[in-house]
Amino acid sequence: MAEPAPLSICPPWLLEHWADIYRRHEQGSLPHAVLFTGMPGIGKKQFARFVAESLLCRDSSAKTGACGTCESCCQLIAGAHPELMTVSPEGAAMNIKVDSVRELVGWLQLSAPPGRYRAALIDSSDAMNRNAANSLLKTLEEPGERAVLLLATSRPGALPATVRSRCQTTLLTIRDRKSAVDWMLEQGLHDAEEQLNHARVGPLAIVEQNSPDWQASEQLLQKAWRDLFLMRASVGKIVDSLTDLSVPRCLGNFSSWALLANKTLLKVPIGADPAITELISDVHDGLDSEQWFTLYERMQSLYRSDSASFKTQTVLEGLFADIRLMTQD
Ligand SMILES: [Zn+2]
Repeated sequence: MAEPAPLSICPPWLLEHWADIYRRHEQGSLPHAVLFTGMPGIGKKQFARFVAESLLCRDSSAKTGACGTCESCCQLIAGAHPELMTVSPEGAAMNIKVDSVRELVGWLQLSAPPGRYRAALIDSSDAMNRNAANSLLKTLEEPGERAVLLLATSRPGALPATVRSRCQTTLLTIRDRKSAVDWMLEQGLHDAEEQLNHARVGPLAIVEQNSPDWQASEQLLQKAWRDLFLMRASVGKIVDSLTDLSVPRCLGNFSSWALLANKTLLKVPIGADPAITELISDVHDGLDSEQWFTLYERMQSLYRSDSASFKTQTVLEGLFADIRLMTQD
């Protein structure tokens, strides 16, 4: 039995995107499959849920979305709405299983009650493996009457082209900068504007990256990178220290550090913060500039491939063993 939960709130900097969708919903021109993309931490998953709830509401508005009081909203709040289904990554590998997608497909084929919508959400949709994605194709084309599929991902390139071409892609951007800064200030970030200007991630991720948990894992990643290149520990031991972190988190950091080392050797200014500059200066002698670039490209392609849904240990063991071989050449 699902737990009661409040209705989702639209991240304030995305409200204009909602107004666009609402307009199309009113005109009856909303596509039946929408793929929300945008930088990490901009609020895609929260926004997709907000849109789904607002479409199910009997009395939603362009300004605030779901009304919060109609029968449909009460069902949403009770956590038991018969016309909403969500599929999310699960298990240690954090992937979307083919069985979950098949269940969703079967459910969408049942028709919604007269005059009502049926909404399916697939968040982190890049976590679908190829079988899961393939089983969705036909439904993306014909999801059934008054059914809408909402997908979200930061990495649309990791989705098969056959899935992307069947969805209408909506790139979520910060349309209202002031509301993003105000929200970050409310979360206790005193230098919100400064951080937003320099970050390559959205407001939700910036706030997360300022949390003690995030800072602790950042320390772990930096230690692992030093231990690997300065031969301070075995590959097995280094990998063990990172098993609680996700593959995208590890590869995101490591690939950006490989590129910074490449730039440092080519005497290109890197403009990183002091801790990262020190890290790069400690390890950059381990490889030559070409090797750093090759390593960067390999990690980027791992990041974009299915391996992002594998276990961290599986991905890092092979990668780190190869790096050790490269450093010993
Ligand atoms: Zn309502």
